[in-house]
Amino acid sequence: MLSWQQEAELHSKQCYPEEACGLVYIFKGKTKYKACKNISINPKDTFIIDPLEYAEIFDKASIIGVFHSHPIDQPYPTPADKAICEKYKYKWHIYSVDFNNWYSFEPSGYKAPLVGREYVFGIHDCWSLIRDYFETLNIKLRDWDRPINPQDFCDNPYFENCFEKTGFRELKPNESLKENDCILFSLNSTGLNHIGVLLKNQMILHHIEGRVSSKDFYGEWLMKCTGKRIRYVK
Ligand SMILES: [Zn+2]
Repeated sequence: MLSWQQEAELHSKQCYPEEACGLVYIFKGKTKYKACKNISINPKDTFIIDPLEYAEIFDKASIIGVFHSHPIDQPYPTPADKAICEKYKYKWHIYSVDFNNWYSFEPSGYKAPLVGREYVFGIHDCWSLIRDYFETLNIKLRDWDRPINPQDFCDNPYFENCFEKTGFRELKPNESLKENDCILFSLNSTGLNHIGVLLKNQMILHHIEGRVSSKDFYGEWLMKCTGKRIRYVK
């Protein structure tokens, strides 16, 4: 019988040049591998396990690890891999098809830096950056499930429905911005699909899709894109 690692290697080769992903779980005292569908819209570079398949295993067995392949790269975790591992609290296994080697690691308290992190929707995006920033102020903001497809969020961004439930209130027109206030922007969208936080010296900390997170001057362009100014109040 094949070991779970051998099954995962075969699965990785079948999915090549896309990333394979799956779950490692214990069922009736045996360690098993469940090959899952990679539903990422960009499966050559990232993976998302189908939540239905995840739920199916979760209900009937004990999940002990998450597996994915790096088709052409070394099996070492990207910053996004480390961040996702922290979020889900499982042991993480990566197999490189081209290098034919493995790497495993566990949650270790890793936090990506606030500036310079790579964009991965749902893990390192504009909202996770705001949450991580507020955590440095000892404020824990609620996380919100993202749709699986980033385009669905672009078509129907829901910051406007969520900010009050997250403890923010909108500033009145005569109130001026202060440090730690947040701004909802509309970037190439009809809705408010982006958020940033105001720092000292009129700088905004934010994370735009397709860029690394950055501190940028709150100047003409960002002001033009501003939709709402909100302040954390509880
Ligand atoms: Zn990876």
